Amino acid sequence: MDIRIFQKGFNYAQDGTGNRLVMHLQGCNMHCPWCSNPEGMPLNGVLLTEKEWLDESCCPKGAVKDGVLDRGICASCPEKPCINRYRQKGIRLSCQEYSIEELLQECEAAKPLFFEGGGVTLTGGEISVQFEAVKELLQRLGACGIHRAIECNGSHPQMEALIPHVEQWIMDVKHYDEEKHKAWTGASNQWTLRNLERVTQAHPDVLIRVPLIPGFNDSREDADGFARLFREKIRGSSTSNTKVEFLLYHEYGRGKWAQCGRAYEMGPGRTAPGTREYFEEKMAEWGIPCIRT
Ligand code: SF4
Ligand code: SF4
Repeated sequence: MDIRIFQKGFNYAQDGTGNRLVMHLQGCNMHCPWCSNPEGMPLNGVLLTEKEWLDESCCPKGAVKDGVLDRGICASCPEKPCINRYRQKGIRLSCQEYSIEELLQECEAAKPLFFEGGGVTLTGGEISVQFEAVKELLQRLGACGIHRAIECNGSHPQMEALIPHVEQWIMDVKHYDEEKHKAWTGASNQWTLRNLERVTQAHPDVLIRVPLIPGFNDSREDADGFARLFREKIRGSSTSNTKVEFLLYHEYGRGKWAQCGRAYEMGPGRTAPGTREYFEEKMAEWGIPCIRT
């Protein structure tokens, strides 16, 4: 079984404990307009352009004119010689396929670097878009004695099946309100909320992440909404096993949207000063522990 990955590399303690090999899996079932990895959304990958190298020589079909790629022409070009035959730097496909064996070998070789409780983190995109392959990779990493973390949006109906194969579970919860969630991400939050309850009751180490997005989920009313949600959904868990982290909005992905040929539709803005502190205080009132990583 193969896995499509759009980015791989090490980071320290950002997506799980210690030093970790973090694999970003291609494909997502949501399309959040603030996404910092828009190249990870389409399961089949997307053509990314590099402005300084993009010229007519990149495409034998005349799809590049005046430094702009006409993606309408690409849509009817299944053989894609620009990436399959030509050596050029102006256009590349966002992802590559790896067999599970290849990934396991890479992880085995990286074992000496997994210090301070480190290991492998699978993130996205959304990992559950490649659910069966992810499950197999996690099982086999476990058999190799490698510490496993996942970061997911919690929306897969069979997410629970991964619980025995993951040491650290990181899950994004973007909104407590289904209509708002659908309007902004294109997907319902119902499975995420169900999984939130199930996973926090069954898994010993869960981090819930909420990105604070201006105009979407960062009002005082929203702080109350999240507090009610977490109070209700994680009530059966030992509070020591579940923590919440509020993340500040940033525009790191803006340039990548352009590389994907898409408009970045978020207006200028940032999480207002004091917002994160307000949310954290609100959670504390309800006995919900918060951390910052
Ligand atoms: S997919 Fe590549 S080769 Fe085909 S039209 Fe687009 S840029 Fe040209
Ligand atoms: S769920 Fe995450 S990866 Fe998917 S579109 Fe939203 S921010 Fe991007």
